[in-house]
Amino acid sequence: MAEGAGTLLDPWGTSHVKDYDELMRQFGIEPLTNELAERLPRQHRLVRRGVIFGHRDLQRIIEAIERGEEYAVITGIKPSGEYHLGAKLTAEEFIYFQSLSPKAFAFFAIADLEAYADNRLPLEESYRIAISNLMDLLAMGLDPRRVYVYRQSVELPVLRLAFIFSRAVTYNTMEAIYGPRPFGLYFSALVQAGDILNPQLPHHGGPKPTIVPVGADQDPHIRLARDLASKFREEFGFVPPSATYHRLLRDLTAQEKMSKRNPMGILHLSEPLESARLKVMNAFTGGRATAEEQKRLGGEPEKCVVFVELLTAHFLEDDKLLKEWYWECKTGRILCGECKARAWEIIGRWLRDHQERRAKMRDLAERLLEEKTLSQK
Ligand code: SF4
Repeated sequence: MAEGAGTLLDPWGTSHVKDYDELMRQFGIEPLTNELAERLPRQHRLVRRGVIFGHRDLQRIIEAIERGEEYAVITGIKPSGEYHLGAKLTAEEFIYFQSLSPKAFAFFAIADLEAYADNRLPLEESYRIAISNLMDLLAMGLDPRRVYVYRQSVELPVLRLAFIFSRAVTYNTMEAIYGPRPFGLYFSALVQAGDILNPQLPHHGGPKPTIVPVGADQDPHIRLARDLASKFREEFGFVPPSATYHRLLRDLTAQEKMSKRNPMGILHLSEPLESARLKVMNAFTGGRATAEEQKRLGGEPEKCVVFVELLTAHFLEDDKLLKEWYWECKTGRILCGECKARAWEIIGRWLRDHQERRAKMRDLAERLLEEKTLSQK
């Protein structure tokens, strides 16, 4: 857990953010203003709808795009299971930043060491899950020609960086950022800092602007990496990594975070359609106690997982339609049963198309990972 008496951020567990303004003040995250967002060549729906609410040094990436200069986008996944909606947000942002410029190069780190430190997951099992995660990324539009995929456990330059970084941190520093933790997690945090700065090593073209799209709960990793970038600037010339932050979304039952502990709350991208449909039809809503009350008072879309998480954040691209949907709910012109059935048509179509594309990506995913693995031998 992060320092301070305010919001607790736990990158390995469940964080609850009540007040994003307070979070930004506490940790020095900048709000993503309209002025800055308008300089992006194309605004992703997560930007337009405020799901991405803050940033650190995003202007550095925008300037690189404007000048046609190189930059890197990096993300990692702890391969603890199949991709679900929580991971989809970061994946979309990762692909978005890769797509904004032909000079953007993507780095995808498979955090198998972290999965071992946090979940005791054997490295071979991580490999199998990583292939599946990579299939999802490719199906969502990741450009395979401009991505470098690697596993932490065999990426020697990253491990070397983590070791070098360990010179500059004490137990107290790590405890202040993450709270008391087993040393394996502290070490995996240093490896993540290595991942974040890996694109700036000489064999990847040297120092360059680098963006890391994350959920708000991952900010401790960003602060550590930025601190290390400045401590090792003289030695490596690092440019402090930039970051964008998205809100932490609830699961389908309105619990704080999607987790395997609550199977009805989690929606996997490779989920069989019938089970996905059942989960959507049982999702938490902002509906009233009776149909009569809902017609009279209207629903509460702001509280509704179907509206906020499924339609606004994930599945409904059309802003005009989203606005109409909001008012239909708010004025009681639609009831939850019909609304969820309508939402399922959109979600089910997305899942079916995604799963069809995904099924064709196994060879490519294996090749991307194998090439890297073979080059390590
Ligand atoms: S009508 Fe739809 S948007 Fe409104 S509360 Fe019900 S499920 Fe949510």
